[in-house]
Amino acid sequence: MALLPILKYPHPLLEQASTAIAAWDEHLKALVTDMFETMYRAKGLGLAAIQVAVPLRVFVADVGRERRQPQVFINPRIVKQSGQIDSVEGCLSYPGFEGLVRRSARVRVEAWDLEHKKFSVNASALGARVMQHEIDHLDGILFMRKAVPGTVQAVEKKSGNAAG
Ligand SMILES: [Zn+2]
Repeated sequence: MALLPILKYPHPLLEQASTAIAAWDEHLKALVTDMFETMYRAKGLGLAAIQVAVPLRVFVADVGRERRQPQVFINPRIVKQSGQIDSVEGCLSYPGFEGLVRRSARVRVEAWDLEHKKFSVNASALGARVMQHEIDHLDGILFMRKAVPGTVQAVEKKSGNAAG
Protein backbone atom coordinates (compact mmCIF):
# COMPACT_ATOMS: atom_id res chain seq x y z
CA MET A 1 0.00 0.00 0.00
CA ALA A 2 1.14 3.47 -0.71
CA LEU A 3 0.00 6.96 0.02
CA LEU A 4 -0.34 8.85 -3.24
CA PRO A 5 0.19 12.60 -3.67
CA ILE A 6 -3.08 14.41 -4.43
CA LEU A 7 -2.89 16.82 -7.36
CA LYS A 8 -3.86 20.37 -6.49
CA TYR A 9 -5.57 22.98 -8.61
CA PRO A 10 -4.45 24.40 -11.05
CA HIS A 11 -2.75 21.17 -12.15
CA PRO A 12 -3.88 20.75 -15.79
CA LEU A 13 -4.69 17.04 -15.42
CA LEU A 14 -7.55 17.96 -13.07
CA GLU A 15 -9.47 19.53 -15.95
CA GLN A 16 -8.93 16.64 -18.32
CA ALA A 17 -11.53 13.93 -18.93
CA SER A 18 -10.52 10.42 -17.89
CA THR A 19 -10.79 7.36 -20.11
CA ALA A 20 -12.84 4.23 -19.47
CA ILE A 21 -11.18 1.27 -17.79
CA ALA A 22 -10.80 -1.74 -20.07
CA ALA A 23 -8.57 -4.06 -18.05
CA TRP A 24 -9.53 -5.47 -14.64
CA ASP A 25 -6.00 -6.41 -13.65
CA GLU A 26 -3.60 -6.28 -10.72
CA HIS A 27 -2.68 -2.68 -11.56
CA LEU A 28 -6.30 -1.64 -11.07
CA LYS A 29 -6.56 -3.49 -7.75
CA ALA A 30 -3.33 -1.90 -6.50
CA LEU A 31 -4.49 1.54 -7.63
CA VAL A 32 -7.80 1.18 -5.77
CA THR A 33 -6.03 0.00 -2.60
CA ASP A 34 -3.74 3.03 -2.71
CA MET A 35 -6.64 5.37 -3.45
CA PHE A 36 -8.53 4.17 -0.37
CA GLU A 37 -5.48 4.69 1.82
CA THR A 38 -4.95 8.15 0.35
CA MET A 39 -8.62 9.11 0.74
CA TYR A 40 -8.83 7.99 4.37
CA ARG A 41 -5.57 9.71 5.25
CA ALA A 42 -6.78 12.97 3.68
CA LYS A 43 -10.15 12.57 5.43
CA GLY A 44 -11.96 12.82 2.14
CA LEU A 45 -15.38 11.31 1.47
CA GLY A 46 -14.35 10.37 -2.04
CA LEU A 47 -11.35 10.36 -4.35
CA ALA A 48 -11.14 10.07 -8.13
CA ALA A 49 -8.15 8.46 -9.85
CA ILE A 50 -7.41 11.66 -11.76
CA GLN A 51 -6.73 13.35 -8.40
CA VAL A 52 -3.75 11.03 -8.01
CA ALA A 53 -2.66 11.61 -11.60
CA VAL A 54 -4.23 8.49 -13.11
CA PRO A 55 -6.66 9.52 -15.87
CA LEU A 56 -8.95 6.47 -15.61
CA ARG A 57 -12.65 6.37 -14.81
CA VAL A 58 -12.63 5.05 -11.26
CA PHE A 59 -13.39 6.63 -7.91
CA VAL A 60 -13.55 5.43 -4.33
CA ALA A 61 -15.88 6.73 -1.65
CA ASP A 62 -16.93 6.19 1.93
CA VAL A 63 -19.84 8.24 3.22
CA GLY A 64 -20.52 5.98 6.19
CA ARG A 65 -20.64 7.67 9.56
CA GLU A 66 -18.10 5.19 10.91
CA ARG A 67 -15.96 5.36 7.77
CA ARG A 68 -16.28 1.64 7.25
CA GLN A 69 -18.27 1.55 4.02
CA PRO A 70 -15.63 1.60 1.30
CA GLN A 71 -17.13 1.64 -2.17
CA VAL A 72 -15.38 1.53 -5.53
CA PHE A 73 -17.02 2.70 -8.75
CA ILE A 74 -15.46 1.72 -12.07
CA ASN A 75 -16.72 3.38 -15.26
CA PRO A 76 -19.61 4.94 -13.33
CA ARG A 77 -22.47 6.83 -14.86
CA ILE A 78 -25.55 8.54 -13.56
CA VAL A 79 -28.59 6.83 -15.04
CA LYS A 80 -31.30 8.64 -13.12
CA GLN A 81 -31.47 11.86 -11.14
CA SER A 82 -34.14 13.96 -9.52
CA GLY A 83 -34.61 16.99 -7.29
CA GLN A 84 -32.16 19.80 -6.66
CA ILE A 85 -30.30 20.83 -3.57
CA ASP A 86 -27.75 23.56 -2.85
CA SER A 87 -25.05 22.66 -0.38
CA VAL A 88 -21.53 23.70 0.56
CA GLU A 89 -18.75 21.45 -0.62
CA GLY A 90 -15.01 21.40 -0.94
CA CYS A 91 -12.39 19.38 -2.75
CA LEU A 92 -9.16 17.65 -1.74
CA SER A 93 -7.64 19.12 -4.89
CA TYR A 94 -8.61 22.68 -3.89
CA PRO A 95 -7.90 22.68 -0.18
CA GLY A 96 -8.93 25.63 1.93
CA PHE A 97 -11.86 26.65 -0.26
CA GLU A 98 -15.55 25.85 -0.23
CA GLY A 99 -18.50 26.89 -2.31
CA LEU A 100 -22.20 26.40 -2.76
CA VAL A 101 -22.99 23.86 -5.47
CA ARG A 102 -26.39 22.93 -6.84
CA ARG A 103 -26.68 19.19 -7.35
CA SER A 104 -29.36 16.60 -7.92
CA ALA A 105 -30.89 15.51 -4.65
CA ARG A 106 -31.13 11.87 -5.66
CA VAL A 107 -29.14 9.87 -8.17
CA ARG A 108 -28.96 6.34 -9.42
CA VAL A 109 -25.42 5.38 -10.42
CA GLU A 110 -24.42 2.34 -12.44
CA ALA A 111 -20.84 1.10 -12.27
CA TRP A 112 -18.65 -1.99 -12.15
CA ASP A 113 -16.89 -3.32 -9.07
CA LEU A 114 -13.37 -4.76 -8.80
CA GLU A 115 -14.67 -8.21 -9.71
CA HIS A 116 -16.01 -6.80 -12.98
CA LYS A 117 -19.58 -7.13 -11.75
CA LYS A 118 -22.06 -4.46 -12.74
CA PHE A 119 -24.08 -2.90 -9.93
CA SER A 120 -26.24 0.11 -9.32
CA VAL A 121 -26.92 2.18 -6.24
CA ASN A 122 -29.50 4.76 -5.34
CA ALA A 123 -28.15 7.61 -3.27
CA SER A 124 -29.51 10.74 -1.71
CA ALA A 125 -28.20 13.50 0.53
CA LEU A 126 -24.43 13.28 1.11
CA GLY A 127 -23.97 10.08 -0.86
CA ALA A 128 -25.59 11.59 -3.96
CA ARG A 129 -23.45 14.72 -3.63
CA VAL A 130 -20.19 12.81 -3.32
CA MET A 131 -20.99 10.60 -6.32
CA GLN A 132 -21.79 13.62 -8.48
CA HIS A 133 -18.63 15.41 -7.31
CA GLU A 134 -16.45 12.38 -8.15
CA ILE A 135 -18.09 11.70 -11.52
CA ASP A 136 -17.48 15.37 -12.34
CA HIS A 137 -13.77 14.76 -11.60
CA LEU A 138 -13.80 11.96 -14.20
CA ASP A 139 -15.12 14.51 -16.70
CA GLY A 140 -12.49 17.08 -15.72
CA ILE A 141 -14.96 19.32 -13.90
CA LEU A 142 -13.97 20.93 -10.60
CA PHE A 143 -16.64 22.01 -8.11
CA MET A 144 -15.73 25.71 -8.32
CA ARG A 145 -16.51 25.65 -12.04
CA LYS A 146 -20.16 24.94 -11.25
CA ALA A 147 -20.48 26.65 -7.89
CA VAL A 148 -23.06 29.39 -7.45
CA PRO A 149 -21.16 32.54 -8.55
CA GLY A 150 -19.58 34.45 -5.69
CA THR A 151 -19.90 31.63 -3.16
CA VAL A 152 -16.44 30.09 -3.44
CA GLN A 153 -14.36 31.39 -0.58
CA ALA A 154 -11.41 30.56 1.58
CA VAL A 155 -12.20 28.80 4.82
CA GLU A 156 -9.78 29.07 7.69
CA LYS A 157 -10.49 25.67 9.16
CA LYS A 158 -11.88 22.52 7.68
CA SER A 159 -15.59 22.78 8.28
CA GLY A 160 -16.32 19.12 7.86
CA ASN A 161 -18.37 19.78 4.76
CA ALA A 162 -18.25 17.29 1.91
CA ALA A 163 -14.87 17.09 0.22
CA GLY A 164 -13.70 14.54 -2.26
ZN1 LIG B 1 -12.86 16.94 -5.53
